[in-house]
Amino acid sequence: MAYDFDLYVIGAGSGGVRSARFAAGFGAKVAVAESRYLGGTCVNVGCVPKKLLVYGAHFAEDFEQSAGFGWTLGEADFDWATLIANKDREINRLNGIYRNLLLNSGVTLHEGHARLIDPHQVEVNGQRYTARHILIATGGWPQIPDIPGREHAISSNEAFFLKELPKRILVVGGGYIAVEFAGIFHGLGADTKLLYRGELFLRGFDGAVRKHLQEELTKRGLDLQFNADIERIEKQADGSLKVTLKDGRELATDCVFYATGRRPMLDNLGLENTGVKLDKRGFIEVDEQYQSAEPSILAIGDVIGRVQLTPVALAEGMAVARRLFKPEQYRPVDYNMIPTAVFSLPNIGTVGLTEEQAREAGHKVQIFESRFRPMKLTLTECQERTLMKLVVDAETDKVLGCHMVGPDAGEIVQGLAIALKAGATKRDFDETIGVHPTAAEEFVTMRTPVAG
Ligand code: FAD
Ligand code: NDP
Repeated sequence: MAYDFDLYVIGAGSGGVRSARFAAGFGAKVAVAESRYLGGTCVNVGCVPKKLLVYGAHFAEDFEQSAGFGWTLGEADFDWATLIANKDREINRLNGIYRNLLLNSGVTLHEGHARLIDPHQVEVNGQRYTARHILIATGGWPQIPDIPGREHAISSNEAFFLKELPKRILVVGGGYIAVEFAGIFHGLGADTKLLYRGELFLRGFDGAVRKHLQEELTKRGLDLQFNADIERIEKQADGSLKVTLKDGRELATDCVFYATGRRPMLDNLGLENTGVKLDKRGFIEVDEQYQSAEPSILAIGDVIGRVQLTPVALAEGMAVARRLFKPEQYRPVDYNMIPTAVFSLPNIGTVGLTEEQAREAGHKVQIFESRFRPMKLTLTECQERTLMKLVVDAETDKVLGCHMVGPDAGEIVQGLAIALKAGATKRDFDETIGVHPTAAEEFVTMRTPVAG
């Protein structure tokens, strides 16, 4: 049968764009449908605008610390509307770049909501298109628990477009988004509380990292409330919000921001017209090569719920393009040693196993740790400390994990990830000459284990 397209991609986000462009580059006839915004979550309401807001929040401490270096500044004043307008302009520019990237690689762009009609057919804006392969790359959507008053809460989608910086904000959750946005709002001057339902936030990160970040954020005056969960939210006559916690406490605030995970975006996608199956958590079930239970339909990125990170969606998109149209270049995505950063202030950077994971996996471990005051702060009043930690297999000497909390941890961990991927041993780290004076050199100068 002759199809309109070799590949029809639903969703022009991180994974969809990568797959579409590369498939077209390999000679396939490709279309992509996008209902909302080119570049997807990462470009519009994720990584990119988030990082811009983190930069914005960082200036507060830069201004404060500059005094130690002899600077006298006038009263600093922050204007949220300017930051948001400049951010929006930059995102518009990136949307244009994504459009050009697609069109210049020969991909047909359909702007509208795509719905599956059958295993080889998609409908967009009332038009139907057939395709040999269909790739679902529709990403995720914020998930807010069903509590009374949830309509008064916002998610990350709205946080990027608030008209004003709230005077008081409650951020709910203990994952990446909650921790990053609590830092953003606090840094920009909002009275910020972070509420997390468990004992300690950032479940799944190394224990020392979680504790260290808790201490550093507390030092900065961020109000961290653990073992705290919201029962209901009520709007008051003056427009403020009354929040009642499950332990009976009441808090007054101007904004409640939920960052409690993301569900797959499957709304009105027409999956019922196909044999695609969902896994127990509701994400699209795929095999090792991203094929769903319906042989002509594949899925990648956040909608399969494996690792919800842009570089992972990119790698999966590339793998699908190669598998379908350049099989001789196909390599499976390696989910080991995925480096990641939490852009809190200070940053977390991490790659490989946590100490807890290493022990659970049966490794006999050696732990190396360094805690120090960053050099830049020695002329300032700031008492922030950096943590660096190595988890080493005592038998093979292989470095199993690197973890850091401190300025630029996200930048530093990228290089370490290459070393770990290449199988570096602690001896390789020790024999590597440091770059002096940097914080990063500490990773090659830790000599005495703190625990075995
Ligand atoms: P998406 O990028 O979400 O793209 C899906 C696209 O599909 C969207 O554009 C959507 O409009 C479109 N779509 C959905 N349904 C349809 C339909 N039926 N028809 C047509 N189009 C449709 N990751 C990092 O690596 N680093 C970070 O710093 C980082 N920060 C983040 C901060 C926030 C606040 C959030 C929410 C996420 C962040 N992420 C970060 C995660 C990252 O954004 C996602 O992992 C990534 O965008 C997933 O890519 P994707 O291609 O699966 O989906
Ligand atoms: P996460 O899965 O990281 O964290 C969700 C948090 O919400 C957890 O602390 C969880 O608690 C808590 N939670 C879940 N359900 C409830 C509930 N019903 N009531 C109260 N608390 C609840 O999700 P995020 O929304 O923070 O981010 C989504 C994903 O986006 C991340 O996992 C990450 O993959 C990606 N991302 C990456 C970033 C980066 O690379 N820098 C930045 C931002 C997002 P518990 O731990 O107890 O389950």
